[in-house]
Amino acid sequence: MERADDLRCTGAFRDCEEISTHGFAYVAKNKRTLGGCRGHPTSGSSASGHHAKGSLPTCGYSEFPPRNVVPDSDARREIACSRTISGEQMSATHALPRRDESTDAIRTRPCPKCYVCERQGELLYEILTDRLFGAPGKWNLKRCSDPKCGMVWLDPVPLEEDISKAYRAYYTHEADVPPADNFARRLYSRIQAGYVRTKYHYRQGGHDPWDQLSTLLAYLNPIRRANFDLNVFCLHAKPNGRLLEVGCGSGTMLKSMQGLGWKVEGVDFDPAAVEAARKKGLSVHLGTLSEQEFRANSFDAIIMGHCIEHVPDPINLLRECYRILKPGGRLVVITPNVRSWGHRLYGADWRGLEPPRHLHIFTLSSLAAVCARAGFTGYECRSAVRANGIHLASRMLRKGKLESRPPSWNLRLLAEATGLAQWALSLVDREAGEEIVLISLK
Ligand SMILES: [Zn+2]
Repeated sequence: MERADDLRCTGAFRDCEEISTHGFAYVAKNKRTLGGCRGHPTSGSSASGHHAKGSLPTCGYSEFPPRNVVPDSDARREIACSRTISGEQMSATHALPRRDESTDAIRTRPCPKCYVCERQGELLYEILTDRLFGAPGKWNLKRCSDPKCGMVWLDPVPLEEDISKAYRAYYTHEADVPPADNFARRLYSRIQAGYVRTKYHYRQGGHDPWDQLSTLLAYLNPIRRANFDLNVFCLHAKPNGRLLEVGCGSGTMLKSMQGLGWKVEGVDFDPAAVEAARKKGLSVHLGTLSEQEFRANSFDAIIMGHCIEHVPDPINLLRECYRILKPGGRLVVITPNVRSWGHRLYGADWRGLEPPRHLHIFTLSSLAAVCARAGFTGYECRSAVRANGIHLASRMLRKGKLESRPPSWNLRLLAEATGLAQWALSLVDREAGEEIVLISLK
């Protein structure tokens, strides 16, 4: 299989005006959105969904400062969430649905053993709360006692029938906000588009004589270049190729991939997200993947960005992916890396933990084991660094307070430096990156 050679240990520091993806992104100077992330990187594509030259999507786990950083107080119901803020207004108060404690409580079951290797777990963190989207409950995380595996999971874990209660205020219910239209943004998009056209042979927007220069500029910053790679899931152009996104949320990434020439479909279990995606004209199915009963050997590519960590049974999910992929088809999974430098740095405040929605948080080896048990024989699994957003978000969580303002330039520079340092570290420590990227071939 082709190797995503430039993906390795790279990532994307993205300053917040250049991005908007799954997660939180300040989309414009005076009009910004803070979002969360699930399953998929949402993209910072234009609202129109056009991704002609100069307007490729941006996406990624990297850019998420939290939308709702909720103080640890069950009594707090009014959460300043700053979804869309105009001008100098620094915050908007958004009221999460008032909870009925008796019906909103998420029921759980014990989960003492590792999903992958069935070894006992050791307590990693206890009494965590959802400081992002205000889901009820207090949560413990266990870590597999086998250091080779290292998987982290919730114990107790939500009952499957109650998992939806953790998504009531989730970001995929939000409307997309178009990215800023300024010189810096246009330049950034143009560099990204040129790089993607050159490396992945997408031809939307036609040839641009500056593509070679764009590619050269992209290579100068490895963490942004990795971001460009992950924004297209390292997939080479395949005109009229059939692509499925599992956990597509409101469909922003799907729209982007459609703009690049893919025939796209999506699946998501969240009715509000599916409705939002359908409003964009996308073909999106409600429910789990297996419920869709897709024909075997029917997709050229399946993408899953920040989804697998939300799924109760990842092996079954990947088995179904294997079944419906065409021979030669490709599965690309992006998920938080629990052995990342960010987790080591921020501990319980690390943004990638996200209890109670992240049921399993993988290491390279545990995700590779899941992939192999699902039937894939050809795959590569590596960590990637595009770490500004997660560092910003984790810093906010550490402070425990809402930051509705866009990050200061000092903080941005610090985050850029952190990302580059992490990239340098990842050259010697292959597990240092914030995200795991799994590319599997059927
Ligand atoms: Zn294990």
